[in-house]
Amino acid sequence: MSIYLDHAATTRPRPEVVAAMDAVLDDAWANPSSTHAFGRRARAALDDARESVARDLRVDAREVVFTSGGTEAINLAIKGAAWAGKARGHQLISTAVEHEAVLNALAHLEKFGFEVILLPVDRYARVDPDALSAALTERTVLVSLQYVNNEVGTVQPLAELVRRARMQRHVLVHVDAVQAAPWMDLDVPALDVDLVSIAAHKLEGPKGVGALYIRRGTALLAQQHGGSQERHRRAGTENVAGAAGLARALHLARQERPDVPERARGLRDRLRDAVLAVPGVELTGHPRDRAPGHLSVVVRDADGQSLVTALDLEGIACSSGSACAAGSTEPSHVLTAMGYPPEEARGALRLTLGRSTTTEEIQIACRVVPEVIARVREGSRALVADTPAAPAARVPVSVPDSVPDARGGYEPRDPE
Ligand SMILES: *Cc1c(COP(=O)(O)O)cnc(C)c1O
Repeated sequence: MSIYLDHAATTRPRPEVVAAMDAVLDDAWANPSSTHAFGRRARAALDDARESVARDLRVDAREVVFTSGGTEAINLAIKGAAWAGKARGHQLISTAVEHEAVLNALAHLEKFGFEVILLPVDRYARVDPDALSAALTERTVLVSLQYVNNEVGTVQPLAELVRRARMQRHVLVHVDAVQAAPWMDLDVPALDVDLVSIAAHKLEGPKGVGALYIRRGTALLAQQHGGSQERHRRAGTENVAGAAGLARALHLARQERPDVPERARGLRDRLRDAVLAVPGVELTGHPRDRAPGHLSVVVRDADGQSLVTALDLEGIACSSGSACAAGSTEPSHVLTAMGYPPEEARGALRLTLGRSTTTEEIQIACRVVPEVIARVREGSRALVADTPAAPAARVPVSVPDSVPDARGGYEPRDPE
């Protein structure tokens, strides 16, 4: 028995997606830029995919650029907007709980003289709109906001944040909607933003393909140079099969709402109740405003990575919220920004459900996860029996009312 509860990391491409990609690889495999009949078939497949994605985002097909994934879409949005807006200002605003793609793109720009402000978050990983208002200046070029957090599932109060950002004219707003796209409708005109990043593999599409919505008229400097593909915004022969897979995955996800999210929420709540019934286990992220399939907790007196390994042996695939760098476990920048001290953050455990998660799987997980937590705690207690650990001090959490320039505990992992 193997149970996959790591859908926030990636998802298995669904059969309809594989079939759509297979058809393209079989029949529309040529270069879409070729003018012969083969090329025209590939062009038609690419156009179809673009129109489908555009319809599902309720935007124009010319506003959709295919990329090699969420990371590239985010890099194009942030670096492209920053460089194009450099004459107007050099300030970039984002949040302390972003994905590494956002944080490291910003850290890169800092080396070229851009000023980066990372807004703090509350206990639930939510950004205070007042903090955004206070940070905005005439020199702000871009505000980059995450819609749904990948580690703790929190949904940001996006409408209010965007409304605040819009009070400063000329500011571009980018939304990392990679974790939102599987669960929520992305009605882009209603969001009133300029740039939106999505990735296929988080919504049962293939890895290595994503899309960036670029509102018509938005000045953006290309970040990859070469041919004139994607209306000069992203050079390179297009991944036609990937685009077709993304289009199919996005469309099916949208068609299946609200049923799939509602079902996932019901199963997630059952698992949540079973896991939170274990003493010393605390939910991380917002209790209600969170992705329907997302459960994240911190387990006191246990190491997240040990829990993941022990659960893997029991056939349950999940992850620890914290990133592990070469053997040494660093506390997650997200939990750190939320105010969790390192000794609590190291007990992070993330169980994320998907469309294909079954009731039987959750029944098993409801029994096995608490058992494994108890067993791992026993083990770590045995190990530290003669070296009593210092009591974990709780760091008081407050939402600063002034504009912070704190980096939220985040250090770029791979400095260039
Ligand atoms: C996965 C993820 C990304 C990166 O997307 P890739 O396609 O894996 O490059 C960016 N942001 C969030 C919130 C994610 O979950």
